[in-house]
Amino acid sequence: MTIKTRFAPSPTGFLHVGGARTALYSWLAARSQGGQFVLRIEDTDIERSTQEAVDAILTGMEWLGLDWDEGPYYQTKRFDRYNELVDQLLAEDKAYKCYAPKDLLDTIREEQKANGLKARYDANHPKVVEANSQAKADDPHVIRFRNPKEGKVVFDDKIRGRIEIANSELDDLIIRRTDGSPTYNFCVVVDDWDMGITQVVRGEDHINNTPRQINIYEALGAPVPEFAHCSMILGDDGAKLSKRHGAVSVMQYRDQGFLPQALRNYLVRLGWSHGDQEIFSMEEMIEFFSLGAISKSASAFNTEKLHWLNNHYIKHGDPDEVAKHLQWHLDQQQIDASQGPALTDVIGLVGERCNTLVELAAQSRYFYQDFDEIDATAAKKHLRPVALAPLQVAKGKIEALDDWTVDALKAVIADTCAELDVGMGKVGMPLRVAVTGGGQSPSVDAVMHLIGKDRVVARIDQAIKLVEARAAQS
Ligand code: GLU
Repeated sequence: MTIKTRFAPSPTGFLHVGGARTALYSWLAARSQGGQFVLRIEDTDIERSTQEAVDAILTGMEWLGLDWDEGPYYQTKRFDRYNELVDQLLAEDKAYKCYAPKDLLDTIREEQKANGLKARYDANHPKVVEANSQAKADDPHVIRFRNPKEGKVVFDDKIRGRIEIANSELDDLIIRRTDGSPTYNFCVVVDDWDMGITQVVRGEDHINNTPRQINIYEALGAPVPEFAHCSMILGDDGAKLSKRHGAVSVMQYRDQGFLPQALRNYLVRLGWSHGDQEIFSMEEMIEFFSLGAISKSASAFNTEKLHWLNNHYIKHGDPDEVAKHLQWHLDQQQIDASQGPALTDVIGLVGERCNTLVELAAQSRYFYQDFDEIDATAAKKHLRPVALAPLQVAKGKIEALDDWTVDALKAVIADTCAELDVGMGKVGMPLRVAVTGGGQSPSVDAVMHLIGKDRVVARIDQAIKLVEARAAQS
């Protein structure tokens, strides 16, 4: 049997990290078993579903690298099929028309609560029986599924183990509303059956639906898939992860400068483990993943760990991949990197200092863009009159260099120090401030090497002018 899993989001908002993790687990379940992965958009709630949310989900999935073999299917395009099967259940007396008006059912629920009973639909309640016997065939009605009265539903959740629920706990679920639209629990079953889904991986918020859905599968004569219900993600304070905790949408993580590889690695470990390994390539995730190794307990989001992973992937990820994502951030920060050093070289030099691509883009700026302003604190400290001689001497040696290498630039600094009989800092710092516009950067010889000779000389000149102007003022 071919393994087939799916991700079935409702397009009512962005792709939440919790949803993304469920999608990742479902995708990995398919990929690790040589199966197929289906994407289905559950857009039957027409009021709340939007095209914008559909687009956000597709973009989020693509950004995370979760490709699908089939779909996206849209539930709103499958109404005929759902209705065909509602009619079939009606014809087989496995479903029935219920004419009891909503206000009557509400009153009954209130009574039940007042008597300390569980509020539920009761087909045998005298008033419901009366409403149904007095109605004419065409009166407004819903279609209810005739849930078995006896026995129990048992299933072995791949994550949570055996789950049993007595049928006496389940009432007769509405499968078609008064307006003729089929309901969620019914559509999901029909889709999962028609699409050949063998493993349903979804959030634990659906666990109460599963026994009801299993009864519907059985009534339709459809094979019941396996189920795996993933636990919630909590914020660092133990409450359910929400906007209050910071970014919750996958695309917000992109905007904040995270690599998809890092977020994916972070999400896979948030509730799943393989020994004590923390870093997983996509291939390793696929090789080692199993639904059974997902934890039953809720997992707490840890932003620090995500930063650590992001830094790891900036440093050790495929440089071309990192460059592709960095390019997006450079565009956002309006840094034109078309002229100047290769992005991969800049990443190699600056990357290890950065936890996000937003920082990395900001710290790449001086490799590509000249500036007239120098950071005031750095200038005040390092571009004083005593810096004039080091800048002039170093500039002369740099201009004379034929061999534009890091080692040659390192030698220029050492020679300048020797000539003026000053320490490294007295030459290195003014040079750093002159060529980068600030007091912090990787090793200044390597930085100058990437910036290139003409630009380096012009920037030292600019700094010399500033120092001279200052000296003239004092
Ligand atoms: N559409 C449902 C949701 O977004 C998921 C249904 C399912 O996975 O069975 O919560």
